[in-house]
Amino acid sequence: MWRGAAVRLLRGGGAGSPRAASGAAVAELRRRLESELEDIQGAGTWKSERIIASRQGPHLRLTSGGAGTYEAAGRALGLFPRCDARVSLSFPAGILNFCANNYLGLSSHPEVIRAAVEALEKFGAGLSSVRFICGTQSIHKDLEEKIARFHQREDAILYASCFDANTGIFEALLTPEDAVLSDELNHASIIDGIRLCKANKYRYKHMDMQDLEAKLQDAQKHRLRLVATDGAFSMDGDIAPLREICQLAQKYDALVFIDECHATGFLGPNGRGTDELLGVMDKVTIINSTLGKALGGAAGGYTTGPKPLIELLRQRSRPYLFSNSLPPAVVGCASKALDLLMDSNAIAQSMAAKTQRFRSKMTAAGFSISGKDHPICPVMLGDARLAAVMAEDMLNRGIYVIGFSYPVVPKGKARIRVQISAVHSDEDIDRCVEAFTEVGRKHGALP
Ligand code: PLP
Repeated sequence: MWRGAAVRLLRGGGAGSPRAASGAAVAELRRRLESELEDIQGAGTWKSERIIASRQGPHLRLTSGGAGTYEAAGRALGLFPRCDARVSLSFPAGILNFCANNYLGLSSHPEVIRAAVEALEKFGAGLSSVRFICGTQSIHKDLEEKIARFHQREDAILYASCFDANTGIFEALLTPEDAVLSDELNHASIIDGIRLCKANKYRYKHMDMQDLEAKLQDAQKHRLRLVATDGAFSMDGDIAPLREICQLAQKYDALVFIDECHATGFLGPNGRGTDELLGVMDKVTIINSTLGKALGGAAGGYTTGPKPLIELLRQRSRPYLFSNSLPPAVVGCASKALDLLMDSNAIAQSMAAKTQRFRSKMTAAGFSISGKDHPICPVMLGDARLAAVMAEDMLNRGIYVIGFSYPVVPKGKARIRVQISAVHSDEDIDRCVEAFTEVGRKHGALP
């Protein structure tokens, strides 16, 4: 039907007229897009979005509209026969949620919400400006100071997201005389940030210290070396060997950068992150992290580290310079989340206990869970179809988990990723394990 519309567009103008030319371009664009969308569908990598009708939390209410919308989109593209939207029509409306990054349950914490409302009322909806023109309020400076204090660093700078923080740092910091050494499984935003910079690029094998050392030796010819790694990797729930990385960095005179999106707020005795967990807070030079996961879940990201670096980013980092300031309500949420974490480590400890409960019960049931002690608990299944049907069947039982397969994870390593939150009750966890056990037996993943 898009082709029909394109033909109508084409017929709209006479040959040679600008309208005809643009009609032809639009028709060509539509044809290409339609074919690309069909390829995505055919490859089984189509990402559908379920529409939530409640706050983020362990218990969610879904609208039936989400499935309807997707079904309609599938039909409009002529793709519905192959799309999996029909499954979602049978979802229970109330579901138990195990797939958000709401590790500490602060996304709907009453004090976090109140702080957002107060910031909104006092400071308005937004700044209509970038930071350096007319967009810096006292709350932005206060939050930057609080983030630096939380991480025990000299200074911090806010971004609209950690994606922006990651795309803004490498280009500002590194020149063609320098080198960056990046774990091959680093987050897409680190990969994009590194692509944007002109430094010499090395990609070392995932958490492979021999390979990192070899690359560091080769990189000795460059002026400055920066090792960049996720602190915790989101697909596997595994934690970077930061002690070893820092030792190598010391040996080869390199700096260490970590992305702490899946660590800030809950890893380490006081939730400071991977560097605290592994006792290397004084050895990691730069931390990027998000306000959009454990720290209230609204949005925003930051870099924290040495003062001159933060000053340089304020002068040179393009996503900071050319994008609007964080909205006050978002700042209010993050600021309150940090207050709660600095007051007590009880929430982080509670999440750790629940993670332990889930991991040990699932292992006892016969499942293999990747990673260690992290609330990202990938239930390893191997087969892509098995992961898809099991995730679907879990949802039919009211438990929301996500199956991942190639190309998101390597071939033959399909899995269902479960994420634990401090606000899951023990009963929630046990219900999830029971459902996995039933579904696993039904589909042959368990004997
Ligand atoms: N880095 C990692 C490791 C992430 O998982 C994510 C989010 O998925 C990001 C960066 C981007 O964070 P944000 O949502 O704040 O842009």
